[in-house]
Amino acid sequence: MDPRKIIIALDGHSSCGKSTYAKRIAAELGYAYIDTGAMYRAATLACMDAGLFDNTDSPSLEKVEAKLEDVELDLRFNAEKQRTEIFLNNRMLEDLIRSMEVSNHVSYISTLPAVRRKMVEYQRGLGEGKGVVMDGRDIGTVVFPHAEMKIFLTASEEIRATRRYKELIEKGMPANYEDVLENISKRDRIDSSREDSPLKQAEDSLVLDNSQMTVDEQMEWFRKAFRQVRGATNA
Ligand code: C5P
Repeated sequence: MDPRKIIIALDGHSSCGKSTYAKRIAAELGYAYIDTGAMYRAATLACMDAGLFDNTDSPSLEKVEAKLEDVELDLRFNAEKQRTEIFLNNRMLEDLIRSMEVSNHVSYISTLPAVRRKMVEYQRGLGEGKGVVMDGRDIGTVVFPHAEMKIFLTASEEIRATRRYKELIEKGMPANYEDVLENISKRDRIDSSREDSPLKQAEDSLVLDNSQMTVDEQMEWFRKAFRQVRGATNA
């Protein structure tokens, strides 16, 4: 293990640009980028495909747990597309998990402790060798409470909805601005109020509101903060 490598936990609200930022940071440092939201989304899609959401918005824990038994997640780097893709039982799901249907169900699935236990175990394994930038909601509080660097990212709700709406449209996915705004607001509400691992700022995290910032400006902020963390940890 490279002793200079650290764990960077990047948490924050829905659609505030965490994955774009985490990818840029990872590329600059030569670290692995791990998108934990994709894991919760893939588990949600598996439940949807199994018909668990057909007549309800909140399928029983027993049904979800039974489904999770045969859920095998895997992250693979696609060199051609220069991106990490999520596979569920060997099926590539990277694009399917971004749909509004999945976004509408994922926060319910993420409230279930059995789901979280499985995901957190997998995530800790991925961070074992350090040198990772992991984004999510509970990385700095639960998954890696001792991460050397923690960032909590946020932005105004309207700006986040506009960004997510544009992203969906650019990908050719059906979307409506009002629905996107409502989904973001609802997910934040559920994610922040759930009992198990709620979305909250770790006390030792650095907070960045990127509402009025370009990605380049955020990278400048990051470099400064990273130098300070390095100095403080002697890494
Ligand atoms: O990051 P993304 O928006 O793709 O995450 C989708 C959902 O997955 C979140 O709204 C949240 O319900 C759940 N999630 C979580 N814990 C994480 C990452 C995501 O509960 N570490």
